[in-house]
Amino acid sequence: MSKIDSVDFKNKHVIVRVDFNVPLNEKFEVTDDTRIKAALPTIKKILHDRGKVILMSHLGRPKNGPEEKFSLKHLVPNLSRYLNRDIKFSNDCIGQDALKVSQQLQPEEVLLLENLRFYSEETKGDTTFAEKLSQHADVYINDAFGTAHRAHASTAIIADFFDAKNKMFGFLMEKEIENANKVLKESQKPFTAIMGGAKISDKILIIEKLLDIADNIIIGGGMSYTFFKAQGGKVGNSLVEEDKLDLVLSLLDKAKQKGVKILLPEDSVIADSFSNEANTDAATNNNIPDGWMGLDIGPKAIESYKETIRTSQTILWNGPMGVFEMEKFSKGTETIAKTVAEATRNGAFSLVGGGDSVAAINKFSLTNEVSYVSTGGGAMLEYFEGKQLPGIAAIIH
Ligand code: AMP
Repeated sequence: MSKIDSVDFKNKHVIVRVDFNVPLNEKFEVTDDTRIKAALPTIKKILHDRGKVILMSHLGRPKNGPEEKFSLKHLVPNLSRYLNRDIKFSNDCIGQDALKVSQQLQPEEVLLLENLRFYSEETKGDTTFAEKLSQHADVYINDAFGTAHRAHASTAIIADFFDAKNKMFGFLMEKEIENANKVLKESQKPFTAIMGGAKISDKILIIEKLLDIADNIIIGGGMSYTFFKAQGGKVGNSLVEEDKLDLVLSLLDKAKQKGVKILLPEDSVIADSFSNEANTDAATNNNIPDGWMGLDIGPKAIESYKETIRTSQTILWNGPMGVFEMEKFSKGTETIAKTVAEATRNGAFSLVGGGDSVAAINKFSLTNEVSYVSTGGGAMLEYFEGKQLPGIAAIIH
C-alpha cells in the first residue's frame, strides 16, 4: 500500500470510493453536504497533481435498479461549486459508455459515476462487477470510512485488481484511522468513554472492548434503565431490554474485576409520555413511578459526569444522554457536549462518533470544539469493537 501524500498522480486515472450518501430534499437538493466536503482534500490532491478523477459512491438504499431519488446526478452542482470546474456525469457506473468517458478524461477533469447500488452486485461484493469498476483506473483510493465495515465490491473486492503500490487510503480514511488509534492504542489516562443512545444491545461489544482500555465508562440514555432494572430497581415505563438483564450484570461484574469504573446516572428527568408536551418530574433511577419514563439524565448525574469528564485526558463519546431531539430532554446531552468541549480546551483528546452523538454535537454548534468528529457511524463502532474492517484490510493486505 502507498501513502496518498507521497504519490504523484500526474496523468493517472484514479478511481476514488467516496461516501456521498447525503440527504436530499423533495427537490433533490443536498440538505447536508458534510460528506461531500469531507472528500475534497483527496480529490483536490489528485487534481493538483494533474491526475484524472473518477468518483464512485452509493446513495440511499435503492431496491431494484435505478431510481430518480437516489441518482448521484443531484450532487453535480455541489461538486462543481466546490471544485470550481465542470463535473462529467455518467448515468451508469460500469459498461462501455461509462468506460469510454473515463478513458477520455483529461488531466484535472472529474467524472462522477452513477449510484453503485443500482446494481445488487455492489452489496453482494461481486467479483466481476468489482473488476468492471477497476477497469476505469490505474489507481484505487478508498476514502469512504462510512462504508469501510462492508465487504462490498467498491469498498473491498475492487482492491484485488490493483497491486500494492496502486491502492491506498484517501486523506479522510487516514484521518479516521489515525484518530481512532489515538483512543484505541495511545490513550492518555484517565480515559473516559461516554456511552449513550437508545439500546444497550447495539453497544455491548464496544463496552466489552472498552473494559480493556478505559478507566471510566459513563452510561446515559435509554440503555441505562436496563442496568437499573437488572439490579432490581423500579424503572416505570422506561426503555428496557428484558433479554439483556443478565448480560448487563455480567458487564458490571467484569468491570469490577478489571478495575474499570462504570458510572450509571443517579437520577433522570422523567415524563408521563414520549413527547415534548409531556409532564415532567425528577426521580432517582431505581425508583421511577409506573406510567413514567426516564428521557434524560438528571441534575445529580450531570454534576457527577461533569466532574469525571473534566479530569479526563482521553474522551470517547458515542450516543446521546437522552432524547435530545426534544427540547425538554436535551439538557443532559447539551451539558455533556459542553463539558467535553471544555475538557478539550484544557488539553484532553476527544473523539465523538456514531450518528446521533455527531448530530447532537452539531446541534449545539460544538463540532469545532472537540478534537475529532468521526464520519463513520457503524464503521467507527466496529473499529472500536476491535474488528478488522474489510475496507481497511483490502488496502493493507
Ligand atoms: P443510538 O442510535 O442507539 O445512539 O440512539 C440514539 C437515540 O436514542 C436518539 O434518537 C435518542 O432520542 C434516543 N434516546 C436517548 N435516550 C433515550 C431514552 N432515555 N429513552 C428513549 N430513547 C432515548
